[in-house]
Amino acid sequence: MKIIALDIGGTAIKYAYFDGDDLIFDDVRPSEASLGGDKVLENIISIITEIGNQHSYDTIGISTAGQVDSINGTIVYANDNIPNYTGMELKKILEDKFKVPVSVENDVNAAAIGEAIYGAGKGENDFLCLTYGTGIGGAIFLNQKLYKGAQGVAAEMGHMMIHPGGLPCGCGSFGCYEQYASTTALIRTAKAHSPEFYNGKAIFSAFDHDSKDAKRLIDQWVKEISYGLVNLIYIFNPSLIVLGGGIMTQPYIINKLNQIIKESTMPSFHGVRVTLASLGNLAGVYGMKAITSKEYQEK
Ligand SMILES: [Zn+2]
Repeated sequence: MKIIALDIGGTAIKYAYFDGDDLIFDDVRPSEASLGGDKVLENIISIITEIGNQHSYDTIGISTAGQVDSINGTIVYANDNIPNYTGMELKKILEDKFKVPVSVENDVNAAAIGEAIYGAGKGENDFLCLTYGTGIGGAIFLNQKLYKGAQGVAAEMGHMMIHPGGLPCGCGSFGCYEQYASTTALIRTAKAHSPEFYNGKAIFSAFDHDSKDAKRLIDQWVKEISYGLVNLIYIFNPSLIVLGGGIMTQPYIINKLNQIIKESTMPSFHGVRVTLASLGNLAGVYGMKAITSKEYQEK
């Protein structure tokens, strides 16, 4: 099966072409999301058209930001990162235009499915995925199937209330996990301490040069990450937790987390492993390969 897979984000569209199990090529270009849903759609169509002019394909998979009705392939809700994207009937529009089956899935779900089928979660029955960036996204796999919940929006782990009455969150609540444990939260705290810690790279570079301040800030942040993970471990007793997001590639974080989690959970939960996602920013397109080729099926 030949597959075109796209992963639509607030800043970029990643895309890839698969022939059978082989990734033939992948690339990235700006999504121009701030110009609105119609512009994003125009970019999606031009990428597919360009690939289609060079290569044959049997199906198209779209991973996208926003809440997705994956059965009808529509955007149920998208926030202001992509204005006027809500309600777009992506599947119908693209099937009418390109005359092949189109699958649409939410980007966090698609990335988790990619990791489940081809990446760090391969072969695991029950595991969790969390992605740390501007916010915190999550996915739950039970018996190798993505758990979606009653309205299809399960695993909003970023909004677990970790500090009641704490910092305000975009969701309207206070003290949410992502206000303390996201990459944004680390940078916000570190920047308030010193302007030299202006991004994740700068903080970890100082840490690598034995900055005690950087170490203290990172250790406190890793502790915040562990609070959420420990709650989830007690609920799900997973064999594995896969962590994604650019910052997680810093080996110190995963090592420290495994240590803290052992220290702060009951012995019967010590079997859990915390590990790094293995597909990097291609997880989403791999997820769409799994869905469109039916290597992953919801039921
Ligand atoms: Zn929240």
